Amino acid sequence: MAYEVPDIALNNGVEMPSIGLGVFQTPPDETRSSVAAALGTGYRHIDTAAAYGNEREVGEAVHASKGGRTAVFLETKIWISDYGSDKTLHAFDKSAGKLGVDQIDLLILHQALPSDFDKTLEAYRALETLLKNGKVRAIGVSNFMVEHLTNLLDETEVVPAVNQIELHPYFQQPEVQAFNAEHGIVTQAWSPIGGITFYREGEHTSTLEDPAIVKIAESHSKSAAQVMLRWHLQEGRSVIPKSTKPRRIAENFDVFDFELTTDEVAAIDGLDTGKRGGPEPDAITLESFGREIPEA
Ligand code: NDP
Repeated sequence: MAYEVPDIALNNGVEMPSIGLGVFQTPPDETRSSVAAALGTGYRHIDTAAAYGNEREVGEAVHASKGGRTAVFLETKIWISDYGSDKTLHAFDKSAGKLGVDQIDLLILHQALPSDFDKTLEAYRALETLLKNGKVRAIGVSNFMVEHLTNLLDETEVVPAVNQIELHPYFQQPEVQAFNAEHGIVTQAWSPIGGITFYREGEHTSTLEDPAIVKIAESHSKSAAQVMLRWHLQEGRSVIPKSTKPRRIAENFDVFDFELTTDEVAAIDGLDTGKRGGPEPDAITLESFGREIPEA
């Protein structure tokens, strides 16, 4: 495909491709082929996490690709069981070792630990150290709500480059988006096409079948997934759609040849239900979600 993905400039000047491939729930044995399909299509950004158990396969696919390591923006996340000064520094070694790299492009905290925010701060300060030492090119957070961000900004020095949050037409978190924008933090949408809504039963239908989105998609001869991704990009967000299917991986990347009108963007903005699909960020504790991340 001939498209060149536009970059988003992070607050420290590092350029991040606006579309990346997400690999949450991609089994390790399908990760290599998914990442290879994405890189073959033109993706230059992969979003993984220590907790996904597939960093090694992501690294293998990147190293085997035509452009190699330098052509790809690698993003990964530190899991909560690795929060703490030395633990988080060592978590970098684990992730970098599995990815087979010396430097990670964007390293983020996967969650705040609201019940032990001091530990969250220690972990973030370790990211600041890694940034200062050139081990990572940018640092950030995920699933941080306004209160967590406010506390983080009060207590640390480097403003996160990215806050990766659940964001799709049915759950838009306008207050977090506004806070991010005010502080120069890029909002990165997880479940950008509403993947998390597909797993829910009986609440509402999947975003892919939403009549308003389907109507807009038909008028542009595009798919509902493409319309949602275009909506994010036009509102300045980074997106990391996940698929293991080469056809869908290509479809999700083919979003640079059409434009939504202001009314269409507003219509999708109007679909917010305020209802979260993923876990409540304030309910994340080591007791309920902690688990060991293996050594590299
Ligand atoms: P997505 O919105 O990306 O949706 C993924 C789902 O949609 C999968 O079931 C996939 O199935 C299907 N799909 C993909 N493309 C299409 C298409 N064009 N048409 C129809 N169906 C499609 O949701 P995710 O929850 O996977 O989120 C994306 C990424 O965000 C994750 O992979 C991860 O990197 C990140 N994430 C981060 C979280 C965090 O806490 N920070 C939490 C959750 C996700 P199939 O694979 O079979 O194609």
